[in-house]
Amino acid sequence: MEMDETRECVSEKKTVVVVGGGVAGALLAKLIQNYVHVTLIDPKEYFEMPWANLRSKIEPMVAERSLMNHSAYLTNGEIIESWAKNLTEAEVLTSDGHIVPYDYLVIASGHVVNLPRSRRSRLDQFQQDNARIKSARSILIIGGGPTGVELAGEIASESPEKNISLVHSGPRLLDFIGQKSSRKALQWLQSKKVQVFLNQSIDLQALEEAKGEYETSAGKRISADLHLVCVDRPMGSEWLQESFLNDQVDESGRLKVDDNLRVVGHKNIFAIGDITNVPELKQGFSAQQHAMVVAKNLKILTRKGKEKRLNKYRPLPKMAVFSMGKKNALKQGVIKSRDLFLFKTRRLMGLDRHSKRSVTSASDEISEGLAD
Ligand SMILES: Cc1cc2nc3c(=O)[nH]c(=O)nc-3n(C[C@H](O)[C@H](O)[C@H](O)COP(=O)(O)OP(=O)(O)OC[C@H]3O[C@@H](n4cnc5c(N)ncnc54)[C@H](O)[C@@H]3O)c2cc1C
Repeated sequence: MEMDETRECVSEKKTVVVVGGGVAGALLAKLIQNYVHVTLIDPKEYFEMPWANLRSKIEPMVAERSLMNHSAYLTNGEIIESWAKNLTEAEVLTSDGHIVPYDYLVIASGHVVNLPRSRRSRLDQFQQDNARIKSARSILIIGGGPTGVELAGEIASESPEKNISLVHSGPRLLDFIGQKSSRKALQWLQSKKVQVFLNQSIDLQALEEAKGEYETSAGKRISADLHLVCVDRPMGSEWLQESFLNDQVDESGRLKVDDNLRVVGHKNIFAIGDITNVPELKQGFSAQQHAMVVAKNLKILTRKGKEKRLNKYRPLPKMAVFSMGKKNALKQGVIKSRDLFLFKTRRLMGLDRHSKRSVTSASDEISEGLAD
């Protein structure tokens, strides 16, 4: 009798497919795994915390904690290591030929980065980057967005003897945040002897032939043993171009969502994280908040089905945090944790449960982090 009941229960579970195992998709899949059948589609076997990437190049041991296999937190779901390449109103198609049916779909394909497929290879990549950075006496960083600024900050803090140049095509660094914060970032980098060249670019196609001698669009010559390209990563919405959702992709490649984080006009399709057009800064902690709201909404829809009770997402006030080495953070609203939120994020993903540091609940911790 009990077994029959269990079987009945199991067969009633709805199927949810999550596309993208980044900050938003990985957390969502973890949160819903016990009340739906969840399938996570991601091209790599691991989840990584992008905000720890740069420190991982300087201190590769950081990556040991910031990369976790999907199977470590998703113990009750299916993982398909592949790219989603198209979809119908009932199925997702992957580049390796899987056809994955869904009752509900969650699109969390944020940005596309071609990373190694295995965690081990990604760890090796950090080691190699570390060796290249260590042995270079002069480094050219191309791009003055969050990645370039953070990387310059991390290297300048760790190795003040290196000559670091940063070339940015815009008139100010971090141009999506306030003027004051941009200015602070510039002053801080200059105080660390980083040479910053604004309103200039480097021809990315000519990098291979540069052989250590680079020229900016304004004719400034820069010698460097190593160049690091930190320009924006493309949005992960190209795979939707041939699909019925194409009309809901805006001109910047983001999916239009309603207050409940459903793709406009589609009751069983949600989008979360950077891929959404929610008017707020695209940050990891907002991606986590999206995942929490959609997890609650999926619970309501798959258990009781009452549309009216769906949770609304309120965009977070604009705030951004940039790490500048272990001791400093440029803040516009909050202070970035010195441990890069590694502990908080691992707890949120259900790991390190027996660690001695006391916490109330992992999601409270994330909210605390937001309110700091
Ligand atoms: C260097 C750096 C530093 C940052 N620092 C901070 C910080 O300090 N604080 C903060 O809050 N935020 C920070 N951010 C921003 C934060 O990392 C992003 O907002 C967050 O990663 C967004 O999460 P996401 O899940 O929406 O997208 P992503 O993390 O980009 O994940 C998208 C996932 O989808 C997968 N994917 C893409 N296309 C497909 C496809 N077709 N099929 C299947 N899978 C696909 C990708 O492989 C990836 O796994 C930083 C980002 C970077 C790059």
